Amino acid sequence: LVPRLRPFTSTIFAEMTALAARTGAVNLGQGFPDTDGPSGMLAAAKDALYGGANQYPPGPGRPELRAAIAKHRARYGTDYDPDTEILVTAGATEAVSASLLALTEPGDEVIVIEPYYDSYAAAVAMAGATRKVVSLVQREGRFALDADAVRSAVTPRTRAVLVNSPHNPTGTVFTRDELSALAAVCVEHDLIAITDEVYEHLVFDDNEHVPLSTMPGMGSRTVSISSAGKTFNCTGWKIGWVCSTPELVAAVKAAKQFMTFVSGGPLQPAVAYALDNELDWVGELRRSLEKKRDRLANGLAEAGFSVWPSAGTYFVCADVRPLGFDDAEELAWRLPERVGVAAVPVKVFTDHPAEWNHVLRFAFCKRDNVLDEAISRLHKLA
Ligand code: PMP
Ligand code: GLN
Repeated sequence: LVPRLRPFTSTIFAEMTALAARTGAVNLGQGFPDTDGPSGMLAAAKDALYGGANQYPPGPGRPELRAAIAKHRARYGTDYDPDTEILVTAGATEAVSASLLALTEPGDEVIVIEPYYDSYAAAVAMAGATRKVVSLVQREGRFALDADAVRSAVTPRTRAVLVNSPHNPTGTVFTRDELSALAAVCVEHDLIAITDEVYEHLVFDDNEHVPLSTMPGMGSRTVSISSAGKTFNCTGWKIGWVCSTPELVAAVKAAKQFMTFVSGGPLQPAVAYALDNELDWVGELRRSLEKKRDRLANGLAEAGFSVWPSAGTYFVCADVRPLGFDDAEELAWRLPERVGVAAVPVKVFTDHPAEWNHVLRFAFCKRDNVLDEAISRLHKLA
């Protein structure tokens, strides 16, 4: 393996899920739901499978899916041409990798907000670019985006900033003010923004997901990425998409076509169906996840953790120090054996492990009885 990829030989999700399986632990480590998506979408996939949609779809994606994505995205007030401004990808993961490969040269710098989703560091390395990490800061009890810190990280080599909101792993949702300040930095320094919005629908309480592309000056410089996995409980389908200008979409397509060319033929019409018909189901999902968030957060607090608020996503973060532990990673490796629960240490998503040493991430996208079982097991830690 080439040196630049040597830090990426395995993923925390694969390792933690394997450990959970080996020990019979409740897996609150890997974020995937344990119930299926809307039955209309599943029926549409079955119809497509038996209806002959099993060969290569068109390179940019099936036309009905691109049309559905454009229509879906229009709720933010945007207007994308399905023929030139939308590209279907093999999940958001490929969309991020293809964007970085297409838009950065070896030696370019990419600003990544920390903690970051694990694929970002690997994708930047695969592109031969350099990651410059900017940490979220704790402000008024939540994790906040510090646009001034982003500005300070810009150098003449900076090409792009990679932004994820709603944010995995912290569950923070960037505010309009934070995004507007970030947009100003992008415009000031002529940066491309690559936004990972896979949790766009999973936003709780009175929080709101605001796409960075809708900020002044950003439409022409933002590659907006989302995916069906989290919106429709189908994380294994890997149907994602990119929305941007014709030039940026053509660039991303140039890389994407030699990564997978196309994928998910019969799943594409089913996702189109879901985007067109199942948004009420998604509203229910959002409300149910909000309750699950409360269920797990309250349970963790009762078990002795100190819990940060989660405004969106599948995740809640907890401080392990009140229970007498310092190192959340060491605890995470022992937790499955010791009490039968798996969680993920946040420090593996950072370049500053000392600052995030005490934080564990738990996923609440699970059935209530599974969450209750995990909570009752975690009480044994005290
Ligand atoms: N981005 C973030 C922030 C995620 O949490 C995930 C995975 N759950 C992905 C991207 C991957 O999305 P996909 O499965 O569509 O590739
Ligand atoms: N996105 C999921 C999480 O953060 C996991 C995805 C994966 O296993 N690669 O838990």
